[in-house]
Amino acid sequence: MSYTYDDKNIFAKILRGEIPNTTVLETQHSLAFRDLYPQAPTHVLVIPKGAYVSYDHFAAEASEDEIVDFTRAIGEVCRLEGVTLTAGNGFRMISNAGEDGVQEVPHLHVHILGGRPLGLMLTQA
Ligand code: AMP
Repeated sequence: MSYTYDDKNIFAKILRGEIPNTTVLETQHSLAFRDLYPQAPTHVLVIPKGAYVSYDHFAAEASEDEIVDFTRAIGEVCRLEGVTLTAGNGFRMISNAGEDGVQEVPHLHVHILGGRPLGLMLTQA
């Protein structure tokens, strides 16, 4: 079965410049911007510019250039936000996918959270 991408999602609109964002970093294949409802002092979303719904979609179909760019963009955002292990106290990166992952926006994004102790990764819900 192939992946289906809905280009009406909010991050596709951000990429098309139809709605504003607070950009942290833009590279050839990726965009990083602040989450509208931050859960920590650092809460940045990193997305590929390509039409990928989830990390498994991206890993299966993105080019090596896109994968390298996205991976390095995530690292660079951590550096810019001062949450790397060399300059700060660390961070958490999360990428929700699909129904069980409780993904709200169906365009691949990695959350980078930091700037405070984040507690246990999962609690019972
Ligand atoms: P997820 O549940 O992993 O799909 O997360 C979607 C995230 O997108 C949430 O943390 C929202 O706060 C965030 N979000 C929704 N709309 C916007 C927007 N226009 N700009 C920035 N972040 C947004």
